[in-house]
Amino acid sequence: MIRPTLDWKPEETIRWAVEQLGKGLVVSSSFGNPEGTALLHMVAQVDPSVPVAWVNTGFLFPETVAFQERLSRRLGLRVVEVVPRLTPEEQAARYGDDLWARDPDLCCRIRKVEPLFTLLQGYDAWMTAIRRGQTEARTGARVVEEHHLQPVHPVGPGRTITKINPLAGWSRQQVWAYLDAHDLPYNPLLDEGYPSLGCVQCTRRVAPAGARVDDRSGRWWGSQKTECGLHTATRPAG
Ligand code: SF4
Repeated sequence: MIRPTLDWKPEETIRWAVEQLGKGLVVSSSFGNPEGTALLHMVAQVDPSVPVAWVNTGFLFPETVAFQERLSRRLGLRVVEVVPRLTPEEQAARYGDDLWARDPDLCCRIRKVEPLFTLLQGYDAWMTAIRRGQTEARTGARVVEEHHLQPVHPVGPGRTITKINPLAGWSRQQVWAYLDAHDLPYNPLLDEGYPSLGCVQCTRRVAPAGARVDDRSGRWWGSQKTECGLHTATRPAG
């Protein structure tokens, strides 16, 4: 079977995925990055009925929650809100206060990885907006890959699904140009010195308010952590 490569336009990859995978396809977005807006706009043009998984960790910026509602309404998206099995209060009761400061990998696993991977168990393929240029771990990202879903509570053994990254070969500049060309909105905090939006506790402004910066440097500052765990355990499709 012909598979999309970096030479394909993102829209061509999305059309291929919708035709090949039908109801087995799900897209995920944090609604915190311009890449997600571009991808969701492209998906909505091809098939707005494709479900969009949105992981609401319970620690998101209010601006991100509001932007999710605004963009979803504008594009007519079918958003599936994914929430952790523990509320913030239950997590604090079980693991203590400020788990994100003491063990961010565990916190990300509880609040992001487990909930999304549990949902992904019900699909054949997962589409994301990651780009090679975003982090060192993503430099080898391919347009079509295999992704191993780690065993997660409460679903037991992991399994491997197809992962599709239509924007893998794009630059951040191409993403912004796409948003401009289509007059698309984006998370307002991206104009306030935040390069990338995650949870309030683990995201900080890296430039003065009013500035736009072009990387993920404000995430998990002061630590070696650059990934929440969603995008690890991926390998080229066979
Ligand atoms: S980004 Fe921070 S607060 Fe959010 S889930 Fe990960 S460690 Fe927890």
